Amino acid sequence: MSQIVLATGNQGKVKELAAVLAPLNLDVIAQSEFNVPDVPETGTTFVENAIIKARHAAKLTGKPAIADDSGLEVMALGGAPGIYSARYSGESANDQTNIDKLLVELKDIPASERQARFVCVLVYMQHEHDPTPIICQGFWNGEITQLQEGREGFGYDPVFYVPNHQCTSAQLDKAVKNQLSHRGQALKALIPQLASLTTGV
Ligand code: IMP
Repeated sequence: MSQIVLATGNQGKVKELAAVLAPLNLDVIAQSEFNVPDVPETGTTFVENAIIKARHAAKLTGKPAIADDSGLEVMALGGAPGIYSARYSGESANDQTNIDKLLVELKDIPASERQARFVCVLVYMQHEHDPTPIICQGFWNGEITQLQEGREGFGYDPVFYVPNHQCTSAQLDKAVKNQLSHRGQALKALIPQLASLTTGV
């Protein structure tokens, strides 16, 4: 089985990706197992940040690497919080303080203008100097609620309303969320490209 390093310390992401890539004979290992520290995300786009993370992991381990970068874009806020989603409410931000800030920013915005989307970019690099990284993007459209609902998931899930399911993403079953989500969409796009790399077809 070939090894791929995942540029995250998040065990949830490792498990999700490992399950999807096992049929391709790819063994996903978290960068933390190689003592790779986090790298500053200095890019101005999701794509740049994902490349920075994948390149860093590939450089320090000498193995192919996958990185993801994701966040929430709110149309009425010109795409904010975007790449700053995790730190929206400051350096000591957590999920609740980020949600609180978002709801304050949107307090005067009517329900008809609260469209938002989650974005996920996945990048695969064969090595540190790979000049043609595989880049896959996934999107998930929804709306920002006025109040929090639901306890599943993380981040902005309690305020991300999914019109087709008439609930927030924090009220969705985990498997359903994985199918619909920005991360799920990006993964679906990545799998055939990785498969053709490993089989050469
Ligand atoms: P990360 O870079 O994937 O860790 O995500 C950056 C930030 O975007 C997270 O800290 C969350 O605030 C937000 N985010 C990304 N994906 C999701 C999601 O699926 N649900 C809720 N929030 C998310």
